[in-house]
Amino acid sequence: MAAMMQPQIILLKEGTDTSQGKAQLVSNINACMAVADVVRTTLGPRGMDKLIHDDKGNTTISNDGATIMKLLDIIHPAAKILVDIAKSQDSEVGDGTTTVVLLAGEFLKEAKPFVEEGVHPQNLIRSYRTASNMAIEKVKELAVSIEGKSLEEKKSLLAKCAATTLSSKLIGGEKEFFASMVVDAVLAIGNDDRLNMIGIKKVPGGTMRDSFLVDGVAFKKTFSYAGFEQQPKKFVNPKILLLNIELELKSEKENAEIRLSDPAQYQSIVDAEWNIIYDKLDKCVKSGAKVVLSRLAIGDLATQYFADRDIFCAGRVSEEDLQRVAAAAGGTVQTTVNNVIDEVLGSCEIFEEKQVGNERFNIFSGCPSGKTATIVLRGGADQFIEEAERSLHDAIMIVRRAVKNSTVVPGGGAIDMEISRFLRQHARSIQGKSQLFINSYAKALEIIPRQLCDNAGFDATDVLNKLRQKHALASGEGAPYGVDINTGGIADSFANFVWEPAVVKINAINAATEAACLILSVDETVKNPKSESAQGDAAAGAMGGMGGRGRGRGRGMRRR
Ligand code: ADP
Ligand code: MG
Repeated sequence: MAAMMQPQIILLKEGTDTSQGKAQLVSNINACMAVADVVRTTLGPRGMDKLIHDDKGNTTISNDGATIMKLLDIIHPAAKILVDIAKSQDSEVGDGTTTVVLLAGEFLKEAKPFVEEGVHPQNLIRSYRTASNMAIEKVKELAVSIEGKSLEEKKSLLAKCAATTLSSKLIGGEKEFFASMVVDAVLAIGNDDRLNMIGIKKVPGGTMRDSFLVDGVAFKKTFSYAGFEQQPKKFVNPKILLLNIELELKSEKENAEIRLSDPAQYQSIVDAEWNIIYDKLDKCVKSGAKVVLSRLAIGDLATQYFADRDIFCAGRVSEEDLQRVAAAAGGTVQTTVNNVIDEVLGSCEIFEEKQVGNERFNIFSGCPSGKTATIVLRGGADQFIEEAERSLHDAIMIVRRAVKNSTVVPGGGAIDMEISRFLRQHARSIQGKSQLFINSYAKALEIIPRQLCDNAGFDATDVLNKLRQKHALASGEGAPYGVDINTGGIADSFANFVWEPAVVKINAINAATEAACLILSVDETVKNPKSESAQGDAAAGAMGGMGGRGRGRGRGMRRR
């Protein structure tokens, strides 16, 4: 019925009335709410996943807010801001990407009625900023430090944080297994800031449980030439030579034009080529290295040469892997084989080429500087392993964060409820309109526990009432009660070890508030006339159908 009625109230040409003023603001808010609705159902341990496939036929199954937002390819100019905050949350802290989008959507949803009633957005913005600052202070105050614990204790605490992150993912069923793996990997690399020092290698086949951690580097066997079979495949304490040069016999015709007067000279040219390569190979052997890796090709001649001298070689090793070997084994990548001194050679306890599933892997373990770790992921479908990799990335980021600023807050919506209660209480003590606005902000924070309930199929109202009561009773204590995802009731999140690093929440609240304020402060969109039709059509296709523009205009018109 409503759908049939709507066309009758459109008086003006498409797009003319929504580009300015209140109607424009409302339409932007609607677009953002529509985006938040997309990721809404993925929140929490019982959240659903999204299958996204693009026009190139790639399918991705993901639960990660940032990944979904990226793949959605949103073109609505205002809604794009939400994509940006999801991305920045991902790169800043690595987790909480769904949370940040949901919060921003909810802040805007709460602001919408005020905007429609004619409240000046700047008033809302001011109150939201105050509320956000207070919320962040409160999080900091409630955060519990895990500093000063023994290594074993710390490990188990970090594993709890990792497990909380993983519990919402596809691999949640094996969260303890992966959590301890992630903690070991992160602790192995110590203070190194480079994320790619933890390698994740995906090998389809087997089960998740077959995944393992290498305290060093592992990479798939590179392309190799004849002679490779004769090379030894295992060394104890080998020296490792890392190169960035080609060890291949260059046939001269590819490279140069040489004019000869006497055919006999031709042989000397050919010989020169051979001498050059033999000279290089000889120097590699003399260096004492038992394993030779190069970023560039190592040809058949070299392969055979090394095989004859019991040396293992691998060419075309990817830059990243080579750097990781360098970091782990303590060598430096050489661009020449002249003067290879002992210091530039790396070493490790055991080098081995092993079969993993259908692939051969070169594995360097027991590396002296221990700056790297590699997780070899096993599992069924490609999409599954891809999502497992993204989930591990989240967990790795979380553990790294927790190691750096080691404070945690209770998850499962507990911290959100507590801030909400605190803000409501504060609102009651202030005069004027801002009381309403801060109250709305507080209400918006409840979206996290509410959505956790909704996604798990619990009665959200019921659970939220229980939570409100619990938090009100323990006022000031910072009741750590949150949604109990197993029973549908409420539980002490701290006792249940549903922990999140405080910085995830702080960053999420900050970014979501910023985004909401940014959108509230826009009252006009100016479109470049040239790109108007293309953009307008696409935007209408993506957003209009979801009620974004349609509803905004409808409201705007009715008042005219
Ligand atoms: P995000 O992308 O925002 O990290 P997730 O889908 O990972 O979204 O969900 C995170 C939310 O799920 C957090 O609020 C966290 O507290 C909550 N959560 C995680 N594990 C549990 C659990 N076992 N019980 C209750 N809540 C949980
Ligand atoms: Mg998460």
